[in-house]
Amino acid sequence: VSKKLDHIGIAVPELTAALEVYESALGFELEEIEEVPAQKTRVAFVRSGDIRLELLEAMNDASPVSKFIAKRGPGIHHICFQVEDIAAELTSLKAAGVRLIDETARPGAAGCLVAFIHPAGTGGVLLELSQHLSPSKQSGTE
Ligand code: ZN
Repeated sequence: VSKKLDHIGIAVPELTAALEVYESALGFELEEIEEVPAQKTRVAFVRSGDIRLELLEAMNDASPVSKFIAKRGPGIHHICFQVEDIAAELTSLKAAGVRLIDETARPGAAGCLVAFIHPAGTGGVLLELSQHLSPSKQSGTE
C-alpha cells in the first residue's frame, strides 16, 4: 500500500518566533495550534499547498522536544507518513523486526491515530505513521 507524506515535524525553541517566519514571511497558512499535554508539547500545523509542517515547541524541560533540542539543536524532528491502516502497518513492521516506539496506535493531534517508529532502524530519522479518521477521505487538500 502506498504512503503519502503527511507532514514534517520541526522542533523550534519558540513557537511565536517560528510562526513569524513560516506564516508571515514564508506565507504558510496556520491550520491550528494544539497543546499535547501527554508530550508536554505545543504544536502548530501550517500548510502551503501540499506542504504541511508541524512546528513543535516544548512546554517545559521534561518535554521530549526540549530534550531533542538540547541534544541536537532545533531542526527536523520527525517525518510523518499517512497510511490507510495503521494497525496493519504496525503488525508488518513488528514482523520485520523494526524497533517501534508505539506498539499500538494512539490518538494524536488533529483527530488522527498515530504511532512512532524508533530512529535506530530508519537511518536516524524518527518516523511517525498517521491514519486519518475523518470519514470523508479525500486526496489532496480538504
Ligand atoms: Zn507529527
